[in-house]
Order: sequence, then C-alpha cells, then structure tokens
Amino acid sequence: MMKGTDQKIKILLDDKACRGCQLCVDVCPVEVFTFDKARNTASVTKEDNCIGCLSCYYICPPTCIDLQGVSYSKNFYCDSEGMKIASRLI
Ligand code: SF4
Ligand code: SF4
Repeated sequence: MMKGTDQKIKILLDDKACRGCQLCVDVCPVEVFTFDKARNTASVTKEDNCIGCLSCYYICPPTCIDLQGVSYSKNFYCDSEGMKIASRLI
C-alpha cells in the first residue's frame, strides 16, 4: 500500500488469486466491485467511487486486493487503543 495525498486511488485486484467469495462486493460501501459469475471473480468497475476505507483490503481472504494512493491506516476495529477511545462514546 502506498502513501499519497493528492494521488488518485488505484485498486489492484489479482483475479488469478480471487476465490470468488464476494466479500469485497458485499463490504464495499460505494459499490466499487461487481461479481462476474461466469469467471467466478470480482472486478473493479467503479474505481472512481473509492473512498479509501480499506475494508476490501482487510477482508479479502487471499489478500488479492491492494490499493495505491491511500494513506496507510490501522485496522480500527482491531486496534485496542482505538477501541478504548471509541468505548467512551458508547
Ligand atoms: S477501499 Fe473501501 S471504498 Fe475503496 S474499494 Fe475498498 S471497500 Fe470500496
Ligand atoms: S474478497 Fe478477494 S477473494 Fe473474495 S471475491 Fe473479492 S477479490 Fe475475490
């Protein structure tokens, strides 16, 4: 994953490694991916929609999705310090 501020986000999906689980399709909040049933792989069809949330990057079981132009961020949901801060809001 690359750092970047003004850089356009680029999503790299290794379709040879894709297992066809569709988790990326389901998790993406802005419908960047579509699923090709015939090929049993996900495809990036609306890259410009991407908001860089990194959900697809973290959820893909074979880690075949990578992103360029997104600043690295910790996985908030697994970060104990982040969870402590968030718990104050509940
Ligand atoms: S980083 Fe977030 S918004 Fe971008 S493609 Fe992945 S899930 Fe969708
Ligand atoms: S999460 Fe990964 S393995 Fe599953 S469909 Fe998407 S790219 Fe393929």
